[in-house]
Amino acid sequence: MTVLIPGEAAATPVYIAIGANLGNPVQQVMAAVDAMELLPGITVTGCSSLYVSPPMGPQDQPDYTNAVCKLDCSGMEPLELLDHLQAVESEAGRQRDADGVNAHGRWGPRQLDLDMLLFGQQQVSTARLSVPHPGILERPFVLLPLLEVEPDIQIPGRGYARDYLGMLPAHQLQRVPESALPEPRA
Ligand code: ATP
Ligand code: MG
Ligand code: MG
Repeated sequence: MTVLIPGEAAATPVYIAIGANLGNPVQQVMAAVDAMELLPGITVTGCSSLYVSPPMGPQDQPDYTNAVCKLDCSGMEPLELLDHLQAVESEAGRQRDADGVNAHGRWGPRQLDLDMLLFGQQQVSTARLSVPHPGILERPFVLLPLLEVEPDIQIPGRGYARDYLGMLPAHQLQRVPESALPEPRA
């Protein structure tokens, strides 16, 4: 049960897709979760398993490690959160050119990708931000971890996300084996 303190707005549920395929992807995905937890007004309330998937777009790059996290977000607008997410990407070593395009080309390899899938029920369509993220229902490496975190999630304007499972393309998404994960911290 959520207890609302008078005058305090409820937190907005936000879902973030994480991807990485340069450096140490597993470590970078886990570090990104820790970095998001440190953002102002953000609490990480859920996280999927880690998955491995072949690259989308250019095929001459390493496989990706992917996950989806749920955040509670208070006192922040979507564009402000995007600024923070891009700062976390940069801290992980990701570089973009002056136009914001990935240094290794569109859909090219990167140390960290943080895509805002959903920001509550808001729909945003600006040059910098499209929410819901347009790839949610078409990308196995997004839809499957999202449904792991939130089986009953609905996408504004599209209905239940689970209803799109049968329309996914054939895929090779695999869970990262436990043996490949670092020891839990004490
Ligand atoms: P895709 O969004 O198709 O997965 P990508 O993640 O490789 O592609 P990026 O290079 O990370 O794309 O970002 C390109 C631009 O996408 C960013 O500069 C950002 O302004 C914009 N963008 C639009 N909508 C979103 C969103 N929902 N989450 C993150 N970035 C977004
Ligand atoms: Mg992306
Ligand atoms: Mg991105």
